[in-house]
Amino acid sequence: MRNTTPGLVCAHHHLYSALARGMPAPPRTPSGFTDILELVWWRLDRALDLEMIRWSALLGALEALESGTTAIIDHHSSPNAIEGSLDVIAAACAEVGVRVVCCYEVTDRNGADGAKAGLAENERFLRAGGHGLVGAHACFTLSEETLDAVCSLAADLGVGVHVHVAEDLCDAPAGERLAGRARESWVLAHGVHLDRDLPGTVVHNPRSNLNNAVGYGRPARFARVALGTDGIGADLLDEFRLAFVLARNADLGATPELAWTWLEAGATLVPDVLDDVVTWSYSPVDPWHLAYTTGVRAERVVVGGEILLDELGATRVDSAEIRARAAEQAARLFRRMEEI
Ligand SMILES: [Zn+2]
Repeated sequence: MRNTTPGLVCAHHHLYSALARGMPAPPRTPSGFTDILELVWWRLDRALDLEMIRWSALLGALEALESGTTAIIDHHSSPNAIEGSLDVIAAACAEVGVRVVCCYEVTDRNGADGAKAGLAENERFLRAGGHGLVGAHACFTLSEETLDAVCSLAADLGVGVHVHVAEDLCDAPAGERLAGRARESWVLAHGVHLDRDLPGTVVHNPRSNLNNAVGYGRPARFARVALGTDGIGADLLDEFRLAFVLARNADLGATPELAWTWLEAGATLVPDVLDDVVTWSYSPVDPWHLAYTTGVRAERVVVGGEILLDELGATRVDSAEIRARAAEQAARLFRRMEEI
């Protein structure tokens, strides 16, 4: 019985949030999605420097590898350490051996200079041959002018755009703003409140959507759907299980095969993973089995012909050292968050 799959793809990740676990509580309890951004994530990303980004990416890449995820489509933000940040992330993933598609999230939330610096980082990284997309935060933090700049940079460079789309009701007008702008190569994260089909792949992030209480977007209504974690690890088998039960909760007729097609669709975004081989602790690898089997582990991961994970763990890097150094950087990050 088959116990292998190609490498899995996390189609929407934020490696910078790998150090976030256990972070200081926000000054007050967030009352909604925009509050969560302002009180939690926009405090965290402003405190990041390149050293923290490096260990965060190493830890996130290691956890991906340990979950059988061999490619990460990352969406990065570090407003006080923009230049060079994508190189740091790409190098960290290369060290572990995990494939990564980088981007820097352009936004107007940090003023015109912040938006320019974000555009410049995408351009610098991509023109130097980096594997990536042009990143944008979300329509509700982008002026028409900045959104146009994102689209024209992506068109010039011949790549897609990776953007949050209608994750919460506050960004529901995104569909209208992106109509005519979006292309097939775009990665549209969330789409919970997206009111139309757009060219591109909608990335469903079940655990994150539940955590932020943004609602269920009925992803089955979209033509192309892949799965992501939105920064909560990179265990895509677990996201598959959640995607299935959420679909089932909305429609008792939903089958695991549906969520499995979303899991497999990651390979359309990073086709190189079809050359990777993950051996799982359970067989058969079958949607109906895996939907109801928890705790399935990747026992062996081969990327591009090289064994990167075996029974002793990651082969190229010292996983204990990464965890220890990442914990030190997390402590430093939390201190800095209290200061700013
Ligand atoms: Zn996200």
